[in-house]
Amino acid sequence: MRRIGILGGTFDPIHFGHLRPAVEVRAALALDAIRLLPCRVSPLRDEPAAAPEHRLAMLDAAVAGEPDLIVDGRELDRPGPSYTADTLAEFRAEYPDDRLYLIMGGDAFAAFDRWDRWRQILASAHIVATYRPGAPPTAPEPVRDALVDAPQGLDETPAGRIWIQPVTQLDISATAIRGLAARGGDLRYLMPESARHHLEEHRLYDA
Ligand code: ATP
Repeated sequence: MRRIGILGGTFDPIHFGHLRPAVEVRAALALDAIRLLPCRVSPLRDEPAAAPEHRLAMLDAAVAGEPDLIVDGRELDRPGPSYTADTLAEFRAEYPDDRLYLIMGGDAFAAFDRWDRWRQILASAHIVATYRPGAPPTAPEPVRDALVDAPQGLDETPAGRIWIQPVTQLDISATAIRGLAARGGDLRYLMPESARHHLEEHRLYDA
């Protein structure tokens, strides 16, 4: 049995606020790997600023040579909005004997009960909510009973539990990076160098 982390996002662009929490969750829960899934269009958000192929290229560049961080472009290959329930159903079919851990920041977790088919999602994976500056995880009322008070609580069942994982607080957002890029600002040390080079070479967020 493997433990597979799944971190979905717009990744517009990928930054250290995604990657550092990801590696800390992997270590804390002894996950074998984390799959990073860029969405085509989020059901709850505006169209991403950068095209799918650029968001994917920045992710690929960011984690090249890191065997425990795997870019998974499956949501980009599906037409229409990217529903996590569909993605998890695919994972369940592909990895019937493995454990799935859906990782999300506090902002995403706070709205989890508004996600399409959220009960089905929780039935097929555990959820790991991380602290995000300005958005400490608050469990939506319908899922409070699923919270565990120690990570070992996740081991007792194959899915359906929620663990809140403290992580290093990095107040970095893709929105702030896009704004800085549009103003011609200095993006160093907010994101991996290789991804920054791709962003700058293609002038992805120029005003
Ligand atoms: P935007 O600013 O465009 O909203 P973002 O920086 O929030 O983008 P997303 O791709 O939407 O990035 O985020 C993917 C996941 O990573 C979400 O679950 C989000 O909560 C989490 N996340 C993003 N930034 C951070 C951060 N600085 N610390 C912890 N979690 C984060």
